[in-house]
Amino acid sequence: MERIRKGLVKFSWLLLKILPEGTPTEIHVEKLDATLPRVKRFCIEHPDVMLMIEANENPLESIKELSSLKNPVGLHTHIALETELVGVPYSRQHDLVAMGKQILADLFDRQIEHFAPGFWALNKTTIKVLKNLGFVYVHTYFTLSRDKWMIEDAGLKPVLVSRYCHDFDLR
Ligand SMILES: [Zn+2]
Repeated sequence: MERIRKGLVKFSWLLLKILPEGTPTEIHVEKLDATLPRVKRFCIEHPDVMLMIEANENPLESIKELSSLKNPVGLHTHIALETELVGVPYSRQHDLVAMGKQILADLFDRQIEHFAPGFWALNKTTIKVLKNLGFVYVHTYFTLSRDKWMIEDAGLKPVLVSRYCHDFDLR
């Protein structure tokens, strides 16, 4: 299943690269040490685009620089190094997500209710963590319908994403 899922995500991503470009609905922000000026410039032009920020990997002072922007903000966490989440226990997932949420809430001085998992990889444990930490919206790639049902079953709201990019893809 994981292999099929991984293939689907990669294939859709390839398609997106071939198809005419549209503005993404969200940016996964992971390399702010290199991309901060580009991210700021893009966000000023596109104030509706959501910033999904990897709070555990970016320098705090760079994240803080984004707090003057109007763009909505959510948390993006790389729970595992790849799409495989099997065997990552509740405590580890909880610590990573809780830490990231706290950082963003402090720096942006607002409630953080949106979550997008790294590599679009989540499982039932992740959902439990998100629910317990008070998240409302869980972003999922539009081809991953199994995850959409899992999110809904837990009483959370899925946000189906088809156009996204990484901060390092911005020109
Ligand atoms: Zn990521």
